[in-house]
Amino acid sequence: MIHVHLIRTAEVHDIVAESIFDFLNQFNGPARWNYVREPKAFEDEGSLLGIQSIKNSEIQKFYSIPDSDINGCDFSDINDFLEPKDFRTYAWDSFFSITQSFRLENDIPARDLVFLLTYKGNHLNWFVGNDLNVRNNYFIHLLHWNYFALSEPTFPVAYQIATHILKNLIFKSYKKYIQSTHHTSIGCMMDLCKVKKEVSIKMRTADICPDCWEKIEASSVPQPLLQQVLKVMESVRSNMLFRERFNKLKVIPTYHIEKENGKIIFPELNELEIKLNPLEMTIYCFFLNHPKGIKLNHLGDYKTELLGLYQSATTETNLPLLESRIDDLIHPLSNSASEKISRIKRKFIQMLGTDLAEYFIIQGPNGGIKKISQPKKSL
Ligand SMILES: [Zn+2]
Repeated sequence: MIHVHLIRTAEVHDIVAESIFDFLNQFNGPARWNYVREPKAFEDEGSLLGIQSIKNSEIQKFYSIPDSDINGCDFSDINDFLEPKDFRTYAWDSFFSITQSFRLENDIPARDLVFLLTYKGNHLNWFVGNDLNVRNNYFIHLLHWNYFALSEPTFPVAYQIATHILKNLIFKSYKKYIQSTHHTSIGCMMDLCKVKKEVSIKMRTADICPDCWEKIEASSVPQPLLQQVLKVMESVRSNMLFRERFNKLKVIPTYHIEKENGKIIFPELNELEIKLNPLEMTIYCFFLNHPKGIKLNHLGDYKTELLGLYQSATTETNLPLLESRIDDLIHPLSNSASEKISRIKRKFIQMLGTDLAEYFIIQGPNGGIKKISQPKKSL
């Protein structure tokens, strides 16, 4: 068993990090995931090496994106919570002092892996950094994956985490790992991808080249772990391809709901799961039951229905407690329903991307009728 801890710096939204965890957690195997919700303070401002201001032209220059690939892409469309407007670049040690403090404070065994998810830039502009002293410490830079890999950070970051666990086991030293990377991209997980655009190629192929297979076979990587990593890679690949097809053909995937497990499952997206907690599931199923939509301040008229949905979505059986939570949800002065709708929306966007999520999220004007654009015909 390999324990993998995911931690985040404060500017990474909880749902962004949680979605990465939820996605990885879909795949059973020896790697066990632990998401630490409490963000880590980034205190080492002394290591600030520069400031990057995010403007289209600067992003283009920063990542060497040719004009032909910009296609009128406007980065101001990007959601605020996904993309800070400017970022600073720091020395690598600043990131690894956080992973190291996390280890010390929580008595994390040396064999466990720790990944720090961050929007803070590093001075080498790497997507993934590995601590040269403590090999099991990593940081992953979340910014701009959406441009290179045509998706939110969820899939590319999950791909990086999974493949780095594998690389960690194959190569006994960082030096050996670096020596084995491919400087020219061939669509293998070991591609270095100095030209950032090429990152999407290796994710779309989800491949491992014959040379790297030989190295895997010569190493002591357990088969179940290899299978788990390959499943993550394959799911990333199929989700990215589906997203690309959707952009051209507008094929909307079907889904089914496992209410009691808190899951919305998309079979065509390699069984992709969106996890909702019981109250979020209650709200979502309620709007599926009301395709014409409801105003939030009318929720009080549907208390019995909401309570019934909640009872079928939770293992909690204390009726007065369940009632009090529903009362809070429907209270006209409470922001509870609106907050939950917003969290559901963010979860869909993290897994499906903004364009595809449009068909599934609950939306409508403030104070007006809210509904799901593409309600499922029957529950
Ligand atoms: Zn290779």
